[in-house]
Amino acid sequence: MTAQLIDGKAIAAEVRQQVARQVKARQADGKRTPGLAVILVGDDPASHVYVSNKHRACEQAGVLSFRHALPDDTTQQALEALIDELNADPRVDGILLQLPLPAHLDERPLLERILPHKDVDGFHPYNLGRLAQRLPLLRPCTPKGVMTLLQTSGLKVRGLDATVVGASNIVGRPMALELMLAGCTTTVCHRFTRDLESHVRRAELLVVAVGKPGIVKGEWVRDDAIVIDVGINREADGRLVGDVEFAPAAERASWITPVPGGVGPMTVASLLENTLYAAELHDAMAREASHA
Ligand code: NAD
Repeated sequence: MTAQLIDGKAIAAEVRQQVARQVKARQADGKRTPGLAVILVGDDPASHVYVSNKHRACEQAGVLSFRHALPDDTTQQALEALIDELNADPRVDGILLQLPLPAHLDERPLLERILPHKDVDGFHPYNLGRLAQRLPLLRPCTPKGVMTLLQTSGLKVRGLDATVVGASNIVGRPMALELMLAGCTTTVCHRFTRDLESHVRRAELLVVAVGKPGIVKGEWVRDDAIVIDVGINREADGRLVGDVEFAPAAERASWITPVPGGVGPMTVASLLENTLYAAELHDAMAREASHA
């Protein structure tokens, strides 16, 4: 292997410690402890694991976490009422609606009901619109985590030809916006892309977020490319693998993220950063309101 590994586990741990230090500093200044409310509907085992991880990360960073675990048959109206309550709760800086929701619920109006300045997942159209207009406020956690990996590794991306494979609202699309903001010439590939290989071969910076193991062949990777693999797939033998064929890609790339231990741990780290930032926004809004 010739590529240098981007150690997401270590970088995420550093980000989390930094948030913990900033939370302590706020408390020392007599400011509120940031609070994150997480709403979980139903009993999807993976979602339960994610929510527990988020809860533990909050605890370790000194962030308050309010957990709302609701039964599978929760109604749209009950969720709307809970979101309204959390929007109005002064202890809550961030609200996260764990996806996916059970099939009878409509996630879009619920995500849009969360006040934009409490939208720590960055999925509200207001926050995505801000990112699209180069005025980022609360930024989607996984793409933000990728940008942190690149910055922390000292990688300069301005002017690079970047290819993002995958165009979901959660990862691919905001990733492309982040890379444009950082000055990349960005191509986005998706399920209708005709010749994925040619777009991958051109990429000096490649970000893959599809959810199909090995969809990007190692031999397609351009020499010295930076390869960020967001995909998380479980093989039949239980192993976790990404979307890129790791070993041959690592022979060609200059830098590469492993799976697991690359992008994965960054999402929760970004969530904590967003919660801290939301607390600062919250304070600023309260100050403005008191001067009005
Ligand atoms: P998604 O299913 O919502 O989107 C997949 C995208 O891939 C779509 O835009 C689709 O058009 C595209 N796609 C499908 N087939 C393709 C093809 N043949 N060529 C090119 N593009 C194709 O998935 P998602 O939520 O964006 O997640 C993608 C992957 O990232 C999954 O493996 C998921 O587990 C992982 N993920 C990881 C993290 C993390 O690391 N913390 C966070 C979110 C998602």
